[in-house]
Amino acid sequence: MIVVMKVGSPEAEIERINSEFEDWGLTPEKIVGKHKVVIGLVGDTAALDPLQIEEISPWIEQVLRVERPYKRASREFRHGEASEVIVSTPEGPVIFGEHHPVAIVAGPCSVENEQMIVETAKRVKAAGAKFLRGGAYKPRTSPYSFQGHGESALDLLAAARDASGLGIITEVMDTADVEKVGEVADVLQIGARNMQNFPLLKKVGAQDKPVLLKRGMSATIEEWLMASEYVLAAGNPNVILCERGIRAFDRQYARNTLDLAAIPVLRELTHLPIMIDPSHGTGRAEYVPTMAMAAIAAGCDALMIEVHPNPAKALSDGPQSLTPERFDRLMTELSAIGKAVNRWQEPATVLA
Ligand code: PEP
Ligand code: MN
Repeated sequence: MIVVMKVGSPEAEIERINSEFEDWGLTPEKIVGKHKVVIGLVGDTAALDPLQIEEISPWIEQVLRVERPYKRASREFRHGEASEVIVSTPEGPVIFGEHHPVAIVAGPCSVENEQMIVETAKRVKAAGAKFLRGGAYKPRTSPYSFQGHGESALDLLAAARDASGLGIITEVMDTADVEKVGEVADVLQIGARNMQNFPLLKKVGAQDKPVLLKRGMSATIEEWLMASEYVLAAGNPNVILCERGIRAFDRQYARNTLDLAAIPVLRELTHLPIMIDPSHGTGRAEYVPTMAMAAIAAGCDALMIEVHPNPAKALSDGPQSLTPERFDRLMTELSAIGKAVNRWQEPATVLA
């Protein structure tokens, strides 16, 4: 249920109403929007009558039921306003959200060694990326595939962060590693295979770093939003959703089916920012630019692109990784679409 307060409602009145809700056994959450304050009410509200709640204060404008099973993630919970996920990076905050430039995240599938991660970071930064991605802990289908260098790769990510000024996005697979990964990562990634790892979702929900929640490979949109609800319910409001392709019947030409329809669907259902990953979405470097452009045209808030200095030698996901040169060109191509939809920020020019 949400309680929409009138413009100019006194703070003391909002507090009084909230403590009344707490007395009823509900959890009120104050959401300060651009124009209005909304109180989100979570708990057993089924028996409550919205009209009766409206009576408890003359400052209440309206009381509405949230009909969706996911409450905090629903668009209604914020009275229609998009949320902004503000991520701090060495060069200042980057905002993910519907009314901000498309944020570009780029880097290799896995962190392989210091030289490659630092070199890639510098290259993608110069092309306009704001974040470096790269896995230290890799969720691989086969136990015989490269599993990532683990903890030592976190130090390499820290070195790349220092050398480039980029923010770091990296995956955490185990509840036991959340704190350690959070010391280096500016955003914690939950991979597709862990989208419904509920203990992990609760754990990242109980810490402060923003969370990038990838869609499970066979997850419905509702299951995905319910997974985000776990993070939000545990107290972390900073969740970014990432569509990375779903499994369909035809895997002959593309690894997955990138569900770009998820962009307008999510826009209607949730206030959370939307990222698109055309690298895992297609599995083929030659298809990545087209789908990246389509994603921006369709209104995504961020893109995740795999880039490797030598894709032929990559320890994971080489076939879907762009070379730094191709990534440079892609950024020029994306800028045309990004400018057309008024969502593009040129990289700062570095004077030699
Ligand atoms: C990744 O980002 O490298 C990754 C493993 O992605 P996903 O969880 O989407 O497969
Ligand atoms: Mn990968």
